[in-house]
Amino acid sequence: MFDDLIGQPHAARMLTAALRRERPRHAYLFAGPAGAGKKTAALKFAAAVCCPENGCGACASCKKAIRGVHPDILTLEPAGSLITIDQVRWINSSLNLHPSESRARVFIIGDAGALGAAAANALLKSLEEPPPFIFFLLLASRPQAVLPTIASRCQIVRFQQVPPADIESYLFDKFHVSATKREAFARISGGNLKLAEALCANAELAGRRESYMSIAARLGRGGCEKAAAMAAEAESAILEAGAPPAKHDEATDSFEVGQKRSQQDAHRRAGAAQKQELALALSLLASWYRDMTAVAAGAKDSILNKDYELELEDQALPSRLDNYLRAVGVIENTRKKLGYNIDLGLALQAMFHELTEVL
Ligand SMILES: [Zn+2]
Repeated sequence: MFDDLIGQPHAARMLTAALRRERPRHAYLFAGPAGAGKKTAALKFAAAVCCPENGCGACASCKKAIRGVHPDILTLEPAGSLITIDQVRWINSSLNLHPSESRARVFIIGDAGALGAAAANALLKSLEEPPPFIFFLLLASRPQAVLPTIASRCQIVRFQQVPPADIESYLFDKFHVSATKREAFARISGGNLKLAEALCANAELAGRRESYMSIAARLGRGGCEKAAAMAAEAESAILEAGAPPAKHDEATDSFEVGQKRSQQDAHRRAGAAQKQELALALSLLASWYRDMTAVAAGAKDSILNKDYELELEDQALPSRLDNYLRAVGVIENTRKKLGYNIDLGLALQAMFHELTEVL
């Protein structure tokens, strides 16, 4: 079941061993960075406990599970920034319902770090003594992101950043993109397989990356008067990415439970998407100046944006190494403020203004 889990030999071994037990434990916490494959692994594990043959991967039940449309596998995502106590009550009230078409029912909690104290308390008893056919799979960025009372009731399975070489060979097998692009996507993804995959598969995302790279390149060449224009350009790219999608995604939406579909909900999602895009934009902008420092220091082998090597070599001046480093610092500082409720436009204006000053 876990042979094709990319770059996670430890998690794959643990989960395979868990499934070989007479009965797997009833609560697991999959902990690791974004894009490491936790959700994919959770769907496969859920498939295996529901499958009459312990996860053949081929039967109707397994196929539905892996596509995310199995009626006995329920995914709970935060409504806004938190998983609410009502969502947990919904789990508790449905705990004794028997599986509708398989031998188990699985609750996947997409972001267990979003369980507030009240919701977590409400979940404790269910987590501790569920009926024998119930399994909980909690996902989180790291075990410490989850309240200790919850984490201590789960078996922890650790996921790591996917090594760039593994990402590259995965992209090679799956997509027709040039070797340079493949190398660049693997490196800039920072171990996030999902991001590297999205850069290959999603032309709009790849286009936005090009916009951010172009902004970074032009900013280096321009003076202070460019800051406002660049900030506005970045802001519109970020807002565009956060616009609610027109089409409904059946695979992820129809089984997200306990969520009210409302205008407010759509708003929250758009806000979350913008925040995610801002984080991506900042990480890409920082990668540009990091690459400038690499070239300026004569270490061009460590360039992340391999597909921009010529432009980087053309622009980077050894005498300005320190300026590029300070630019990375400015962007990192903005990134740290992401957790607070910042005004997107103001934050970008301030950052670009500072960037033109240090460059
Ligand atoms: Zn099966």
